[in-house]
Amino acid sequence: MTAEQLNKIEKKLKIAKSFLPPEAYAILLREHQKALAELEHFEALVKVVKQRMGVLDRIQVRPDFDAPPGGFSIGLNERNECILSFGFGTKEVFNDYVASGVIAHELGHYIEGHPQEKMAWFLPFMGSPREIFDGAKKQRYPQIRQQEYDADAVAAQFGYGPALIQSLYWSMDNGGDGPNPGETTHPKLIDRINRLREYDERKAA
Ligand SMILES: [Zn+2]
Repeated sequence: MTAEQLNKIEKKLKIAKSFLPPEAYAILLREHQKALAELEHFEALVKVVKQRMGVLDRIQVRPDFDAPPGGFSIGLNERNECILSFGFGTKEVFNDYVASGVIAHELGHYIEGHPQEKMAWFLPFMGSPREIFDGAKKQRYPQIRQQEYDADAVAAQFGYGPALIQSLYWSMDNGGDGPNPGETTHPKLIDRINRLREYDERKAA
């Protein structure tokens, strides 16, 4: 989070305070503070995972009010900047170990050059307070099953396989609605778990 971005947020909060009823403003402020703390937390975690995986490029980290808690995604915005986003509230449902596995998977997409398509990204902190509550429409790049396996393999290569397996189990427990929203575009969670296990066994052999 840059000073310029923080400035923008503070300005917007000031404007919101001028027209929102005090109770609504209090909620907005609380949500903002939570999001900021969560953002700081994940920025630090992403830095650690990036270092371990040797990713030197700048990757922006953003909370995504439109994604479920526990959901992470990666993509490029109109300016070709890489953005890793996470569902608001993820910090509460994922411990750092599991979150690291999912971040490693997302960075696996990046290393493999998957997030090529231009995406319309919803950046909650850049939007108006109204947008923050409404969420926004965002185009997701079409996911291809093979890309998911490839990103998993990259994460496993850097030792994040077991953490990723835990996140997949977590997703299954939550009706498969976690990091992998649908099996129409993603492999079955259990298939990904099995492949990651095979990968670990091959490495151990
Ligand atoms: Zn993926």
